[in-house]
Amino acid sequence: MEQLELWFVTGSQHLYGDETLRQVAVNSQAIASALDASPSIPLKVVFKPVLTDPAAVRNLCTEANSSPNCAGLVLWMHTFSPAKMWIGGLTSLNKPIAHLHTQFNRDLPWAEIDMDFMNLNQAAHGDREAGFLHTRLRLARKVIVGHWSDSEVQARLGAWARVVSAWHDMQGARFCRFGDNMREVSVTEGNKVSAEMKFGFSVNTYGVGDLVQVLDAVSDAEIDALCAEYEAIYEVAPELKKGGDHHESLRYGARQEIGIERFLTTGGFKGYTTTFEDLHGLKQLPGLASQRLMAKGYGFGAEGDWKTSALLRFMKVVAEGLPGGTSFMEDYTYHMDPAGPQVLGAHMLEICPSIASAKPKLEIHPLGIGGKDDPVRLVFDAPAGPALNATLVDLGNRFRLIVNEVNAVVPAHPLPNLPVARALWECKPDFKTALASWIYAGGAHHTGFSYSVTTEHLRDFAEIAGIEIVVIDADTKLESLRNELRWNEVYYHLAPGIGR
Ligand code: MN
Repeated sequence: MEQLELWFVTGSQHLYGDETLRQVAVNSQAIASALDASPSIPLKVVFKPVLTDPAAVRNLCTEANSSPNCAGLVLWMHTFSPAKMWIGGLTSLNKPIAHLHTQFNRDLPWAEIDMDFMNLNQAAHGDREAGFLHTRLRLARKVIVGHWSDSEVQARLGAWARVVSAWHDMQGARFCRFGDNMREVSVTEGNKVSAEMKFGFSVNTYGVGDLVQVLDAVSDAEIDALCAEYEAIYEVAPELKKGGDHHESLRYGARQEIGIERFLTTGGFKGYTTTFEDLHGLKQLPGLASQRLMAKGYGFGAEGDWKTSALLRFMKVVAEGLPGGTSFMEDYTYHMDPAGPQVLGAHMLEICPSIASAKPKLEIHPLGIGGKDDPVRLVFDAPAGPALNATLVDLGNRFRLIVNEVNAVVPAHPLPNLPVARALWECKPDFKTALASWIYAGGAHHTGFSYSVTTEHLRDFAEIAGIEIVVIDADTKLESLRNELRWNEVYYHLAPGIGR
């Protein structure tokens, strides 16, 4: 994130004369510096010379398109800036836009205000001229309103900065599938060509045998070192330690982690999928390896679920440096007590230890599916706190992102016989409304579960990608949501013809 830039782009025009334009540039630089210094904005904010004519706008947009470090543009009209001069540039721009509707002064200088001040500080109408054109062009953008020193304004811009950083990461990203989809499963399927057109990432398959070759080449010394690391940071079960009955299983888990990571780094992959139905030549389902690689920032989807792998990677980049973790998740089973219904989330093995509330235990247990050796895995509980689940589905004519805000809770009782990592949560607005909404919306059982990524981040993502988003939160009413789904069917059917 540190290398990426937001370009702070100010609009004006020539009518006001050189002195006013010099002042516009000075003020604009001051705002750009303040935003650059803001701890809530993780990207560099770079001042760009004030734009006053169509050629300058075109040149800047061309420069932004070809700049590898420019993740997005923040637009602001200090004065009036006749917006037809922006058409040529903005229609060719392929970087995300935030429109910051602000002004240099916070307060009116009641005693001193004169017409020179009025002409210099015209964002109140200059930004409306810009807003009209953005709407006329059907430009995707985030509009942020308020004084630039306002912490809420900086936080909203910072949230967007994280999303454009993750969007930047997604462009050209490669995802690797070891094996295909779990047989007969529908929701994990989808159109990979449409996904590459919409999101900019590619998904391709690789033979498990190719992975096995890489695993076989991992050295004993590398495995010794990784097993020592496991003992240093986890509570390792005695039978897995050196000299224990199952130490070889742990060593094989380490071999898988090293081998898969090597395969991913060699191929330049940002995430991967596995499927328990295609493990030919692998002794265990890679549980520990997938847990550890998620914690390092890789996307992961089980059962061939490449959409969740890509979404999880995106969420990991958004969350970089924020407190709380982000994991692959599956809605597994329910506590249906009317006094407080809850969802128990887990997977066969692959939950990311970034959401562990305490030191994870490294254990070995049988796995009743897949017919392989007992796999090693990290076992832990997730902490209490606000969180969300997000899922990306392919409806045939479009992608839909579905988000449910939840409150994670600590289990009221221990789960001594549950040999996997898990999280427990309560859905907003309530169990029945949330789950009926999720099911009507076609939400998958696989999600990205996060304590750090917010609905605002995911709304910004959907806006940039141009996809549908359905949010289930404290305000959701089931029948209104069902209407939204019906209307969206029509809108997204027609939308490709509504554009400029
Ligand atoms: Mn699953």
